[in-house]
This record gives sequence, C-alpha cells and structure tokens, in this order.
Amino acid sequence: MVSVTVYRDSGVVLRVTKLGEADRIVSLLTRRAGRVRAVAKGVRRTKSRFGGRLEPFSHVDLQLYAGRNLDIVTQAVTLDSFGSAIAADYSRYTAATAILETVERLTSEEREPSLKLYLLLVSVLRALAETGRDPSLLLDAFLVRSMSLAGWAPALAECARCGEPGPHAAFSIPSGGLLCGECRSPGVARPAPGAIALMRALASGDWPSAEASDGSMRREASGLVAALLQWHIERGLKSLPLVDRGSVAEPAELRGYPAASRDALVEARADLPGFIS
Ligand SMILES: [Zn+2]
Repeated sequence: MVSVTVYRDSGVVLRVTKLGEADRIVSLLTRRAGRVRAVAKGVRRTKSRFGGRLEPFSHVDLQLYAGRNLDIVTQAVTLDSFGSAIAADYSRYTAATAILETVERLTSEEREPSLKLYLLLVSVLRALAETGRDPSLLLDAFLVRSMSLAGWAPALAECARCGEPGPHAAFSIPSGGLLCGECRSPGVARPAPGAIALMRALASGDWPSAEASDGSMRREASGLVAALLQWHIERGLKSLPLVDRGSVAEPAELRGYPAASRDALVEARADLPGFIS
C-alpha cells in the first residue's frame, strides 16, 4: 500500500526557480518545518491556480504533498501579500531582498525547524510593507536579531570575552563585540559610542532611540552588523543547527485553530521585540 502524506504549513517564499516549461521550485521558510523546497506545478501558465501567490516575500498558508524528493504544493492561500508594497519602493525592495538572502544563508540545512526566525521574518516583512520605518534600520534590526537567534548575539554592553560590565570602547568582529581594557588587543577598532548604542536599540526594539540616530551612526552600525554577520556565517554555519528546535511544539490552546489565526496568536505572544510597536 502506498501511503500518501499531505500536510499543511505556513511559510514565506524566499526564492522561486524555474523547473521545466511550466513548473517552479519554491523555497520557503515555513513555520513548522524550517526551510523547505517544494514544486509548484503549472505556476508559469497564464491560468495557474496559484496565481501570483507563490512569489518572493509572499506569506502563504500551504497544503503540500510529501514527494519522494521534493514536496509538491497542492494549495496556496495568501496570508499576507507583502510583495507588491515592498516592490513599489526600491530601498524597501533591496532591504527585503537582503533579508531573504540572509534567511537562506542561516538555514543552510533544510527542514531544521526555526520558528523564531520565521516569526522574525514575517514581522520584519510586515514592517517593511506596512509601516514608514526606515528600511535600512529594519534590515539591521533583523540582522542583529537573527544573529541572536543563531546564538551569535553581539556583546554590546559587557565584554565579549570575560563578561566584564561596560561601558567599553574597543570592538572586535572576531570576538563578537565590545572588549574590556584587559581583553582588548592593540589596534582594535573603537567605533563611535552612538553606533553601539544604535545596535543596542535595534536589538531591543527601542525604535524611538534608533530613529533618533543620525546618518553617520547608522552607516557605522550597518557596517559593524554586516561584518559580524559575515564573520559568523563564514565560520559558523556548520555548527548552526540553530535556532530553537525545542520551541516548535504548539501550545495546547492553539490546537484546532485555522493556521492563519494560529499565526496571529502565536505572533502576538512571541517573545520578540516588535518591529512595529
Ligand atoms: Zn574582558
């Protein structure tokens, strides 16, 4: 007897690639299963039953059929179509594209559940699509928080090596943040204190402080965030089986809700600093 496995999940489309004449492979970060690649048949036909629902940035509720190699999307319902609002503004589009690429790099292993990364992704795309927040600040906030989820939270107050409480002035990318007078080596960088304060504000969701920062602080903080992420990704991916495998179990009171309202409930209580509030 052949067993047929159909399952549901919600996810954000990260990437879409062609497969043959009419089909596509869709890469998604899903709520339950982590990053999944699935085949969407007939997407490129004019009258596809998926319409434009399976495009990058789309947040969809999916029904999938578990195939031998790749799963097959049998149904897709839009939860949030972030794509049109994001694509209408170039700086939002580039920030959102960098976010999707980072998610792919942080989830090099398929099917490693990463619920918190999924929630973070949905909430930053929502902020990019639906608020006037500065796209570059949203991108940096996402990068700092995704590093924390991966176990790479930068040391922005205490010493990265010995934990000595700050304030400290020296900052080292390979050490992962600030260094005290005892731990720092000669020639280590000394970023502007405002840039470190901005990174702290982005990490904690302190938007009034973040938005009060000036252009030079923002550029310096962006450079540090990008360098930290790059350093960790290049060295850390193999040990990354991240993020929060333990937290994927659904709370009992959410069982039986339709997936979309479950999303809303879980998001409402997720222990993540808001991008919007
Ligand atoms: Zn130290």
